[in-house]
Amino acid sequence: MSAPPSPMLAQWFAAKADHPDALLFFRMGDFYELFFEDAEKAAAALDIALTSRGEHAGHPIPMCGVPVVNHEPYLARLIRKGFRVAIVEQTMTPVEAKRAKVKGPLPRAVVRIVTPGTVTEDAILDGARSNWIVASNGAALAWLDLSTGTFGVRMAAGPTLAAALAARDPSELLVPDTLLADPLFAEWRDRMLALPGPRFGTESGRRALEAAYGVATLDALGAFSEDELAVAGALVEYVRATQGGALPRLAPLAREADGTTMAIDAATRRSLGLDPSAPDGLLGAIDRTVTAAGARLLASRLATPSTLRPVIEARLDAAGFFVADAACRARVRAALKGAPDMARALARIGLGRGSPADLGAIRDGLATARAVAAALAEAALPRPPLVAAAEAALDPAPALAERLARALVPRPPVRPGEGGAIAAGFDAALDRARGLRDDSRRVIAAREGELRAATGIGALKIRHTAQLGYFLEVPEAAGLRLRANPPPALAGLTHRQTMAGTMRFTTEELAALDRRIVEAAAEAEAREAEILGELAAAVRAEADGIAACAEALAGLDLAAATAELAERDAWVRPEITEDTRFVVEAGRHPVVEAAVRKAGGSFVANGVDLSPGSRVWLVTGPNMAGKSTFLRQAAILAVLAQAGLYVPAAAARLGIVDRVFSRVGAADDLARGRSTFMVEMVETAAILNQATARSLVILDELGRGTATWDGLALAWAVLEAIHDRLRCRALFATHFHELTALAPRLPELRLARLRVKEWRGEVVFLHEVEEGAADRSYGLHVARLAGVPREVVARAQTVLSALEERARALAPLAEELPLFAARPPAASAQPDELRRILAETDPDDLSPREAHALLVRLKALAG
Ligand code: ADP
Ligand code: MG
Repeated sequence: MSAPPSPMLAQWFAAKADHPDALLFFRMGDFYELFFEDAEKAAAALDIALTSRGEHAGHPIPMCGVPVVNHEPYLARLIRKGFRVAIVEQTMTPVEAKRAKVKGPLPRAVVRIVTPGTVTEDAILDGARSNWIVASNGAALAWLDLSTGTFGVRMAAGPTLAAALAARDPSELLVPDTLLADPLFAEWRDRMLALPGPRFGTESGRRALEAAYGVATLDALGAFSEDELAVAGALVEYVRATQGGALPRLAPLAREADGTTMAIDAATRRSLGLDPSAPDGLLGAIDRTVTAAGARLLASRLATPSTLRPVIEARLDAAGFFVADAACRARVRAALKGAPDMARALARIGLGRGSPADLGAIRDGLATARAVAAALAEAALPRPPLVAAAEAALDPAPALAERLARALVPRPPVRPGEGGAIAAGFDAALDRARGLRDDSRRVIAAREGELRAATGIGALKIRHTAQLGYFLEVPEAAGLRLRANPPPALAGLTHRQTMAGTMRFTTEELAALDRRIVEAAAEAEAREAEILGELAAAVRAEADGIAACAEALAGLDLAAATAELAERDAWVRPEITEDTRFVVEAGRHPVVEAAVRKAGGSFVANGVDLSPGSRVWLVTGPNMAGKSTFLRQAAILAVLAQAGLYVPAAAARLGIVDRVFSRVGAADDLARGRSTFMVEMVETAAILNQATARSLVILDELGRGTATWDGLALAWAVLEAIHDRLRCRALFATHFHELTALAPRLPELRLARLRVKEWRGEVVFLHEVEEGAADRSYGLHVARLAGVPREVVARAQTVLSALEERARALAPLAEELPLFAARPPAASAQPDELRRILAETDPDDLSPREAHALLVRLKALAG
């Protein structure tokens, strides 16, 4: 039999039962303490001491703790390691508890659950990246960045859902428990949290959203499908639960219509270096923004390029404005530099977690916005719409800006309750309380000298401790004398302590002064907290305008940064068209170019034309010649252009791409437990099933992961399928020279090779793309240069000739093989839509009435 847990332990067990999957940060005075297994896990993860306290069931209770004032770095490390943390606060001070006659331990409650997707602390967040929490039910997807309030939703299933997930790279993914094992989410398994299925209900979702936006009916916010309501509502409810019932300001729920963004799956993102976290990624090479919010906007544009020409053109126009007016660009960038992160400060203030420093960030951000407005006002050129809209949002709350400027000290403290956040002269009551406190301190300081004179004790000191307040300290001998015969100046002299040869006394006068200081300090503190509360409320009242202002600044930062890059590194505005042309003149790969330049070399620009008539390019050349670079730069240019950015080329005319696929043969993916060739084929299958005539496909060394003949056969068939069936734009790099035999058969296939030359006994890669097929004996050539024995090279030459003989037989073979079965003529949109709807329909899910409605709809679509 074990003794029942102490009342405090009972509190702990109750909180733990409600949050079994979280570590409890259990508030005890100045520390957050962790107990039992939580303590063991946290001590190991944080590398802090594990101790113990008391006993439970006959065993010591493991314990560790972190100081409340400095808990953020610890919290950050735990969250980064994938833990969830429930904060258990004391909900009353000891004084309040005494007054309310609470028996037993102080009342405590879970006030917040900190999870990877719901953090708002700058110490945990990366300023240059959004922090997405995402919810999906397999049919729709909602995403929210709690640290800025950005909130979006869309329909997406199957591969489209996978691509939409990859675009957000969620820190936390919520799914109904029934979908926990769905392979669609495999990539995100370690960030996934299963919620009970009913939480994804349409009606509950609708109610959650109506409550979150404070509207009676959602219709005011736009039209949403049932699945969209379900996922957005489940997301909001989850977030509310983690925030102890509070919700931040949410931006209006933005609906992303199907097909309005370029679909890019996770493998393609990795292959092109689009991952924001990739060490040698695209972002690092092209980011010229000067604010965190600008960097976040760039990352999000790059993650979800648009397929809508007006959207793309509007962004390009904004950048073009800053290209045309370099002086204005310089002024705007100078004004933006060092601007605080208003969006994130605003979110914390909205959640009631704002610090005085966050109010300072709003003040400084609003001041930045005014400076930017002034810089823009000097521009002579007419503003394109995005710039004009941003300009109009730059002074959202002049009265608030002025009030914050007067109210706050230059650098308000980060910790609330530290005091000293409000400037002198702002509030009479605060000034009076502070004055009283400081006057009394001055009186005490002056009294020391006076009392020395009055008592004749030169060593007399006035000191202060929390326990005694202000007291006199004198040497013991003098103290004994004083006690025997107190002078009139020391009325009410009371001996308090004797320590190490000194005696401590309090007097009526000191006690009175002490009381006055304590009271005045408390009054000042209370008044300051009150003012800070009022300022926070005033900020919340202007939240929409401030958020719009922050967004405007980010947009201007990105537009000016795009222009900066264009001018310094010779990037150009792409011409965007609605057809399927794809012409790049003298294009460059931004990341490889930066690396080559850093190494002292110069990048060789190459053009490409995948317009109708030459849609598919077959690129050959020896290893290290530059094939992969050439392929990827085409895809990167398309992504950049549709993100609304300039491109590294002399000129580019690009028909809008709906999906980009980029695959590297034999990619090493052993970590996921699939053979590399299996991965290659899975990805190839995805392309063949998903690419449309508007897609751009990059296939690098397809078929490398298997034996020569079946690899060649597959590459052959895939190339034919791309050319004849998918009819998309494609670049195909291969080491199978035999494929060049296909050229006469495929009218839109172009052969390209990378130039190489021999110079003073060395192979020199010129990195130049020219028409034609690579010289197949190049490998032998290199082998000879490298010193492989003459006889071996000669023998290889003999073998090669024999193989070539056989390969020549392939050309007629190409003629003999019947043509690849072509797709039905120029697929119109309708049949695909029909198929999509049918694929998404489960007959078992339909009521007779719904089945009838579906039939009617399908018939209408079929025309
Ligand atoms: P391949 O795919 O043909 O083996 P890569 O595209 O991987 O070749 O390029 C190999 C290296 O060659 C790159 O890392 C880069 O250093 C250099 N390189 C490639 N393309 C160029 C270029 N256009 N200009 C200058 N250097 C290049
Ligand atoms: Mg390569």
